[in-house]
This record gives sequence, structure tokens and C-alpha cells, in this order.
Amino acid sequence: HVFTKDEVRQMVKDEDIHFLRVMFTDLLGTIKSVDLPVSQLDKLMDNKIMFDGSSIDGFVRIEESDMYLYPDMSTWLAFPWGAEHGKVARVICSVYKTDGTPFEGDPRNNLKRVLEDMRKMGFKDFNIGPEPEFFLFKTDEKGNPTTNLNDKENYFDMEPADPGEDCRRDIVLALEKMGFDVEAAHHEVAPGQHEVDFKYSDALEAADNIQTFKFVVKTIAKKYGFHATFMPKPLSGINGSGMHLNMSLFSQDGSNAFFDENDKDKLSATAYHFLGGLMKHARSYTAICNPIVNSYKRLVPGYEAPVYVAWSTSNRSPLVRIPSDRGMGTRLELRSADPSANPYLAIAAVLEAGLDGLRNNLPPIHNVDENIYTMTKGERAEKDIRDLPDTLHNALKSLAADEVIKSSMGEHLYNSFMEAKTREYASYRQHVSDWERQHYLEQY
Ligand code: ADP
Ligand code: MG
Ligand code: MG
Ligand code: MG
Ligand code: MG
Repeated sequence: HVFTKDEVRQMVKDEDIHFLRVMFTDLLGTIKSVDLPVSQLDKLMDNKIMFDGSSIDGFVRIEESDMYLYPDMSTWLAFPWGAEHGKVARVICSVYKTDGTPFEGDPRNNLKRVLEDMRKMGFKDFNIGPEPEFFLFKTDEKGNPTTNLNDKENYFDMEPADPGEDCRRDIVLALEKMGFDVEAAHHEVAPGQHEVDFKYSDALEAADNIQTFKFVVKTIAKKYGFHATFMPKPLSGINGSGMHLNMSLFSQDGSNAFFDENDKDKLSATAYHFLGGLMKHARSYTAICNPIVNSYKRLVPGYEAPVYVAWSTSNRSPLVRIPSDRGMGTRLELRSADPSANPYLAIAAVLEAGLDGLRNNLPPIHNVDENIYTMTKGERAEKDIRDLPDTLHNALKSLAADEVIKSSMGEHLYNSFMEAKTREYASYRQHVSDWERQHYLEQY
């Protein structure tokens, strides 16, 4: 629902809102926000809030730095805390240029563009149900994050009066007050690791939700003396944090376009071609869904994260799993994505991959129902099972060679992304680590 100006003014009065948190997302997925006193509400609603785009990662240079924030009035909501200093409402914005056109370098505008292409192909919604995982680490006396965990628990474990559990419960309560439809929240496999699942929604809202979710988790964790991190692999030797993306296309009539009663697996041709696109472009969208050096420390065998490009209806280990739900719940689950991804860019990339599958009737190759991890290299080669990229460097090489996935970002975002990521990898490559000194200092 897009709130009218009068409705917003009424909500500000009713809920005693004092501050407006005006949010958008930069190239690397960092939430940027400007806090405005509520006296600026009319200026905001008239699209008159200006900021300096040259100080935002991946946006523009000094010469063209004036940008405007256009609020999306369907995203208005009040945070359920902060009463003592005045209540805060947030609104998510799109970035516009001085000539009144959407800025191509804004990841949210870019996702809208790809969704528009999808609508032209006759679909109503691209649904995304994310499963973000995170760790709660203790903070020290100064409030700085440590890598000390609070508990030694395991998947679905429960312990009475555990501060980590209390914190997670508070997170769920806050999300519910903000209108999130939380479906599940549980302890994950690694100690200190949690997952909160909220109901799927259309891609743009899902990406907005992911950003809001991260902010809520970090805010509430802080109150409990924890540091919440969405870093994909904070500790070696235990599971990392993923953000599985469940996805489906809905038709104009609201039905699930991936479902087909008459198919032996009850999946439609649309689902199979979309899957074909996800298989074909897997190595290149990995650069966007797993965009940091650390992402590749998670994509290794032995920790429930995918390593090979394959799909299955029965097995939980491959890149894409098709859960057994059918009807409205018919979906593909991409298991590689992690929460360091910019959700706007990651969702645009997987959608573009799937649409390419539909446009070109790509076959759903790489169906493997055996355990790929116990196959030999030769057996994998025989079945043409490729590896996911093992480093950010190799993922970027695949992306650079894939015009379809490049087009999911558009030229401006692609160039800024490549530049930033190439620099990031070069800096990592030049760093000499403890592991190297431990292994080589005395031996050589
Ligand atoms: P898992 O079994 O992998 O742990 P979860 O139950 O944690 O899965 O999460 C499933 C996610 O899939 C939820 O976010 C749910 O809302 C979402 N989902 C359900 N139906 C659809 C659909 N048609 N399209 C996209 N996502 C869906
Ligand atoms: Mg789950
Ligand atoms: Mg589940
Ligand atoms: Mg999980
Ligand atoms: Mg899952």
C-alpha cells in the first residue's frame, strides 16, 4: 500500500514520530541513511531531499555529485523502539538524478528495471523467501566485537534462560511489530549461530526486508551486549552463514507459474527453463551472490554449503534444491547465496539468469540425486558436474565473461562493482597471513 501524504501525516501524529530515517543501499550492500527531524516531512514527500552522491561507495564522481532521495511511501514503518529520544520511522528511497530520472547506479532502481523486463514477459511477481543466518558474538568491556561465542548449542537446541535465545526472541518480536511475517526462528548448526525466516514477498519488498532485517538484528543484539555478524564464515572449522534464496514466479492471475499438476514432478516448463538458466549462469552470478573474499571460505565441502553446480529434488547438498512443497509453495531454493550479498543485486542477477533460461528454452541440465560429495573427480566429470568458483577472483572472471549476468547490473553498476571487487581481491592477495607463517616460517 502506497501511503498518501495525509495518511503519513496522520501516522506521524498518532505514533508520535520525531525522526525520519531515510534509507537506501550502496553498491556493496551497506545501508546508508540520513536522519531527518520530522519537520522535514513535507520536503521528503516532495522528493526534495538532496545528498552528495560522491561520498557513497560506487555512486558518482565529484563533478556530478548532487542526487535526490525519492521516498517509496509503501515502505513507511515505525521502529518499535527509541521512545525515550523520540520515535523513529523509516522509509526506503530510490536515488534520482538532478534531471529527475532514476540513477542507474542505485541497486534498488536496477532491480526495478529487471523486474519491469520480467513483467513484460507476462509474469506478475518474482517471489523471494530468504533464510538469513548470522552469529551472535560477545562484545568486550569497550563494546567492541570479539569472536567469543555465548553458547555451545546445536541445530534446533534450546536452553533455558540463554541470553542468545532471549535476544533472538526479541528480534522476532521487533520484526513482528514492524509487520514482518516471521515463519520460523531457530538455533543453527554452529554454536552462536541463528536463523530467522520470514515469509516470501515480491523481490523488491524482499530485498528491502533483508536490509531492514540486518539493521534490526544488529540493533537488538547490541542491547544484549552481542555483536551480530552476517559475515559468511567468521570461524574456520564450523558452518558458515548462508542466505538461501527460495524463489518462484507468479502469473498474472496470482497462480504459481512453477507448478504444473500434470508433470510427473508437478513442475512446469517455466520452472525447468528457469532452472536451466540458474544452472547455466551459476558460476557468474556467484560473484554477486557471494561477493566477498570470505564468501569462498564458506563454499567448501563438509559444512552443508554447496560446492558443485547441480540440482536435486531429493538431496539437500546441491546448489539448487527443489523442496517438496507444491501448489503455491512450489519453489527453487538457491543454497549458495550468503548474507554479505547486496540483496538488490543478487536478486536481479538470479532473476536475469532464470529469464535467460525462459527466453532461450534452456534445458535443466545437471540433475544429480546421488551424494556429489562422495563421487570421485572422474565420476563428476562424466556427469559434467562443474565446481562453483573457489575464489572471488575466479568468480569475477566468470562474471566478466557472461553478458547475461553483466546485463543484470547494467553498465554503471557493473563497472563500479568490478573496480571495487578487483581492488578488494588484490589487497587480499598481497596480505601475508598467519596460516602462511605457521606453515612456512620454520619449514623453509
Ligand atoms: P528450509 O527447509 O530450507 O530450512 P525454510 O522453511 O527455512 O526452508 O524457509 C522457506 C522459505 O521459503 C520461507 O521464507 C518461505 O516463505 C519461502 N517460500 C514459501 N513458498 C514460496 C514461494 N512460492 N516462493 C518463494 N519463496 C517461498
Ligand atoms: Mg531454513
Ligand atoms: Mg525449515
Ligand atoms: Mg539454515
Ligand atoms: Mg534452506
